[in-house]
Amino acid sequence: MALIAQASVEQVKTAADMVEIVGARTQLRKVGARWTGRCPFHEERTPSFSVNAADKLYYCFGCGSKGDLITFVRETEGLDFVGAIEWLADRYRIPLEYEETSPQVEEKRRRRERSARLERPRRARGFRPHRRPNRAPMRSRPGDPRPGRPQRRRSRRPTSPAGWP
Ligand SMILES: [Zn+2]
Repeated sequence: MALIAQASVEQVKTAADMVEIVGARTQLRKVGARWTGRCPFHEERTPSFSVNAADKLYYCFGCGSKGDLITFVRETEGLDFVGAIEWLADRYRIPLEYEETSPQVEEKRRRRERSARLERPRRARGFRPHRRPNRAPMRSRPGDPRPGRPQRRRSRRPTSPAGWP
């Protein structure tokens, strides 16, 4: 089983233009040091998708999608890691070098891929309606002897990872 050489992976990552790749999926506008646009992973009217072009990372303040260049290609093109690297290499005309792997290395890679799959249950195959959590109001009725518990307000927005505003 052949594996793409790490040097080739790095070459592809360096050559790829994050704004160009994301820009093919959604229109981006430069705001300060970042680029922003409507999220390709959930339907929205106002842009909450942010791209860090220098570090080649993305983050959505609406649905919490985040990742790097490779994650973005994997999610939007429906590819695995090798497929995403090959897709980018083809686009940026980077010749790839492959390495033969031992069964041990192969098993490690499979395990890594399995855990990556478990961590990211969401796949971007077309648009999905933005799901909102159900929040049934809990109010006490007039004359109710037991007052309703005060409602705890939770922010609907996910917390941003370190390095994001
Ligand atoms: Zn989103």
